[in-house]
Amino acid sequence: MKIVAATNNKHKVSELTALFESQDTELVTLKEINFTDEIIEDGSTFLENARIKAMTVHKATGLPCIADDSGLCVDALGGEPGIYSARYASDNDENSDDLKNNEKLLSKLDQVPENERTARFVSALCFIDADGTEVSAIGKCEGIITREARGEGGFGYDPLFFFPGFGKTFGELTAEEKNEVSHRANAVKILKEKLEKYFSEK
Ligand code: IMP
Repeated sequence: MKIVAATNNKHKVSELTALFESQDTELVTLKEINFTDEIIEDGSTFLENARIKAMTVHKATGLPCIADDSGLCVDALGGEPGIYSARYASDNDENSDDLKNNEKLLSKLDQVPENERTARFVSALCFIDADGTEVSAIGKCEGIITREARGEGGFGYDPLFFFPGFGKTFGELTAEEKNEVSHRANAVKILKEKLEKYFSEK
């Protein structure tokens, strides 16, 4: 089955493609279907925003779609940057670049001691079937925010996110290692189970 990955983030596309590889599915990108409309993400939760993205593309194309909305929630900042992760350092509603977002996060946490630098990545995945049925899942991954960037891998806040299970930041992991434990991987695992049940009962 062809499913449209409703995102323009090339890192998310490649992670989702790898994570869905074993399924009987082929992910196609917005670029491949020439979808260029702007999508206004004005939800107040990760799941609402994932639903907006998947539903917008589904309504425009009639195809089954999947969208991820994700971000980093830092306990010492009351859950910030949360749904604003992509535009954290921006003065307007535009996404900011990763380096600026990371600098802002580090400076906000400057006075925060090691034992209070706990955080989690959250990924909400929303699948909308060709008939409009929704199946969704949320995955999380717990970590600690470092005091400086480490590693060249991944994207976004990965170089600042220390994952105790591997003793490394996400930026220091290979793509395969990240896909074993990440919030997105955890959401995909849950979603796959739900989709198997959904399709078997359909
Ligand atoms: P979205 O595209 O609106 O869902 O925003 C996602 C933002 O959250 C990204 O731009 C990153 O800043 C952050 N983010 C989400 N997932 C990851 C990840 O796997 N690693 C690092 N940062 C992430």
